Amino acid sequence: MEKYIFVTGGVVSGLGKGITAASLGRILKAKGLKVIAQKLDPYINIDPGQLNPTQHGEVFVTEDGAETDLDLGHYERFIDENLNMFSNLTTGKVYTAVLDNERKGVYGGKTVQVIPHVTDEIKRFIRAVGAKISADVVITEIGGTVGDIESLPFIEAIRQVSNDVGRENCLFVHVTLAPTLTSNGEVKTKPTQHSVKTLRSLGISPNLIVLRTNKPIDQKLKEKLALSCNVEPDCVIENRDASILYEVPLLMLDGGIDEIVTRELGLPETAPQLDDWRQMVERAKNLKDKVKVALVGKYVSMFDAYLSVAEALTHAGIANDVKVDIDWVDSEKLNEKNVAKKLDGADAVIMPGGFGIRGIEGMVAAAKYCRENDKPYFGICLGMQIAVIEFARNVLGWKDASSGEFDENSKHRVIDIMEGQQGKVCTGGTMRLGGYKCMIKPDTKLAQCYGADVQSVMERHRHRFEFNNAYREDVENAGLTLCGKSPDGNLIEAVEVSDKLFHLGVQYHPEFKSRPARPQPIFREFIAAAKTYKARRG
Ligand code: GLN
Repeated sequence: MEKYIFVTGGVVSGLGKGITAASLGRILKAKGLKVIAQKLDPYINIDPGQLNPTQHGEVFVTEDGAETDLDLGHYERFIDENLNMFSNLTTGKVYTAVLDNERKGVYGGKTVQVIPHVTDEIKRFIRAVGAKISADVVITEIGGTVGDIESLPFIEAIRQVSNDVGRENCLFVHVTLAPTLTSNGEVKTKPTQHSVKTLRSLGISPNLIVLRTNKPIDQKLKEKLALSCNVEPDCVIENRDASILYEVPLLMLDGGIDEIVTRELGLPETAPQLDDWRQMVERAKNLKDKVKVALVGKYVSMFDAYLSVAEALTHAGIANDVKVDIDWVDSEKLNEKNVAKKLDGADAVIMPGGFGIRGIEGMVAAAKYCRENDKPYFGICLGMQIAVIEFARNVLGWKDASSGEFDENSKHRVIDIMEGQQGKVCTGGTMRLGGYKCMIKPDTKLAQCYGADVQSVMERHRHRFEFNNAYREDVENAGLTLCGKSPDGNLIEAVEVSDKLFHLGVQYHPEFKSRPARPQPIFREFIAAAKTYKARRG
């Protein structure tokens, strides 16, 4: 029987519900269970694909091409299981499906209502995500805070699931805040009591309360809270801020969560095998050296816009035994004149994805500076396109070289829409999305990253524009190696200047596949190059 864990939030948002859910997933997977995670987002957008990254953070792309909430990145990094298109559901997606059914006459003349039609659609997603991989445990996080108007249908749907599959197969985890008063240092539990009361008024009694707090909570206080919230005496646990994110599963394990969840859900009593994870965390806490990487982008006012890139850099650092300090550089403030000064302190430069013309010239200046000074450069998606544009402008001498996205009238659109690819419509869900195969050219830097015996890799995509095939010969003759191609040879997936220490761009998003104990190979080699650069410079 499939088991369900529902994670809700109380009191305030931003309590790290996603990390709690992901950490729980890691622990259960370490017990030998097949685990998948899912997030229900109450907002109306169909998916976060059209949301501004400076407001909502990055869009995480799944292997099967869904554009999803960034919490899914935490799930994949912690649980190390590919999520799928059922892993993220929004109110918009639910209503689209329901209204579609209504137009098709699926409801046979009935009045379409929140209960049962909307809740049924939500339940379909909750059941589907685990069915796709025959999961033992499905962890479902409900976005927002209990009591929000928008989340009501989702709360009602998870209540119904527990009726459908049996209360003994469901665990309701409520993550709340226990604030400390600044005046006398007292920890307060009243907001949690109120939040649990709200949840219970919606028909859900939580089994486990996870308190976010910045100081240890007295056992007596936990017992008092357990009594007033009607949970078992050991079912109030604290979740304190960890020095590194990946330590959270270990802290939760030490706090006894495995015993509680195993008992409450009737799971096998195998002890979680987290030795490798523990080693990785130990290593991460004792890094010997550091390197500085400048991240040049246009959304740097919001670090979450580059969450997976930052995490992948951290993973690569752990493998290389260095702490990676990120210097967030706003590309809009970069130009030919100040680029040397602004990037001089960095041991390497990474340029992640992005959309639209804003900040492009600063990016081109940064790519040129790196190529000319042999400073490691790693371009991702837009960052690869910038490397091509820079090369065309400054090596081939085509001063107007650009992308069709930025300058439709340029005579040298070295990046453009390719035949058979998506049109220029800027609507949601129409990009080249998800996992595609890339064939690797032997004896290149790219081949060196993945390993000489690896001929092809699957990496995730999220873009509309491509390298323009009309310019293949020109750029190759001038020294830009086309080191990655689609299996049919029609699309360029990666470019590099092979005689540089590291000057590489990939059309895909390798950051989505990096895991803390298994860094993505290009990131790993990029950080190794940063170390070499730092040592050379002395
Ligand atoms: N804007 C570019 C494109 O659509 C790059 C996208 C990205 O960096 N994800 O092709």
